[in-house]
Amino acid sequence: MDWQKEDLKYIWHPCSQMKDYETLPPIVIERGEGINLYDINGKCYKDVISSWWCNLLGHCNPRISSAIKKQVDTLEHVIFANFTHKPAITLCQELMKVLPEGLCKFNFADNGSAAIEMALKMSFQYHYQTGNPQKKRFMALSDAYHGETLGALAVGGVDLYSELYKPLLLDVIRIDGLDCYRCKYGKCRDCCNCECFEKVEEAFAKHADETAAIIVEPLLQGSAGMKIYPPLYLKKLRELCDKYNVHLIADEIATGYGRTGKMFAFDHAAELSAGRTESNKNTFTPTPDIMCLSKGLTGGYMPMAIAVTTQKIYDAFYDDYLKGKAFMHSHTYAGNPLACSAAIEVLRILKDENIIEKANARAKYFNKIVKEKFLPLKNVGEVRSIGLINAIELVKDKETKEPLDYTKRTGYQIYKKALEKGVLLRPLGDVIYFNPPLIIEETDIDYVTDVALECTQTILKN
Ligand SMILES: *Cc1c(COP(=O)(O)O)cnc(C)c1O
Repeated sequence: MDWQKEDLKYIWHPCSQMKDYETLPPIVIERGEGINLYDINGKCYKDVISSWWCNLLGHCNPRISSAIKKQVDTLEHVIFANFTHKPAITLCQELMKVLPEGLCKFNFADNGSAAIEMALKMSFQYHYQTGNPQKKRFMALSDAYHGETLGALAVGGVDLYSELYKPLLLDVIRIDGLDCYRCKYGKCRDCCNCECFEKVEEAFAKHADETAAIIVEPLLQGSAGMKIYPPLYLKKLRELCDKYNVHLIADEIATGYGRTGKMFAFDHAAELSAGRTESNKNTFTPTPDIMCLSKGLTGGYMPMAIAVTTQKIYDAFYDDYLKGKAFMHSHTYAGNPLACSAAIEVLRILKDENIIEKANARAKYFNKIVKEKFLPLKNVGEVRSIGLINAIELVKDKETKEPLDYTKRTGYQIYKKALEKGVLLRPLGDVIYFNPPLIIEETDIDYVTDVALECTQTILKN
């Protein structure tokens, strides 16, 4: 059977111009092991983007596989309204041990965008039920990405995804200016005082009274091209949100689970406040009001997401039924036991095998190698890294930081070249990046960076 031909007969692939498949047909993957994917002809591809950032501990991780196998013969799924099960409860108990202080109520969904929708609705309804019905708008950052359902798309700021749909979207208050590479204040990421935060202050001064929540991807704007900003920004944001009674929603869908070198990106902000005293603790604990989790949550095995929130928000919904204060939001597959069993095992592996600590040691090596190999290239504007994530921004001119001509689709050409050589890169525009499973070894780091370098040099003639 010609599987590629059959695929194209039926399947409309995500985020793809299907016409591109005329020259690059879908690769039919048969099995996976560790960071390797094998197609039906036995060719190996190094999955250094964790299959859209969700695979955390390698493909077909024996421990996660066996946890799911055990669960599937016990209970595959059950309605989650008025019913519950041990895997969901255990998962919450385990998450409580690693989540920032204060997050303690878990509302389940089955994909990241759905968790964002929940967070937005929850925030609006909280304010509505606590005497602030005028708080019905949201603030979000330029270049943000929060998923692609209409609510999530509205708070997102990447035009590639949202531009066309603007007539359908909520009117969001957009805050400008988190591009550290092209900093408008002439500062650098490690030496600034988050001068750009004045944009947030301006927006709050003007709009806080009508604003329910501000949503951010903490520290790392993934889809925008792995843009990294300092934790001080989050600390300042927490303080401002407290002052104006605006919720802080942390979209940790991509940044959670060790991707930034700590369990959650927000933990970097907590570290900044480590010197806090008991008396100012509440003011300075940079905990979000709602945190959205997905992607790494199940190690990339099962679709699941959670919006985790505080007792305070939960309490605003808790009343006699006829008061009409319940959160009337549901997803059929909420709390799926198979997904929960995978998620529990992920947390156990992270702990038992010291995964994040070990990944941090290799992250240093990874970053050093990427810098050595790529910085000398004439078209490399910046190499930035956080945790094991390394991004290489290609530009036309290093001095002016002028981007490459996007119509040339340079990133896509590099992607195709690297596939030939068995490395799955999938750049974001003209930003090449690595976001591998946390278990990647040094020999693979050497190999994938060599291939990426060679392909970049070939395509750009550097
Ligand atoms: C992937 C992602 C989402 C959306 O998750 P889906 O499961 O694809 O709907 C939202 N926010 C961030 C930061 C993401 O990376």
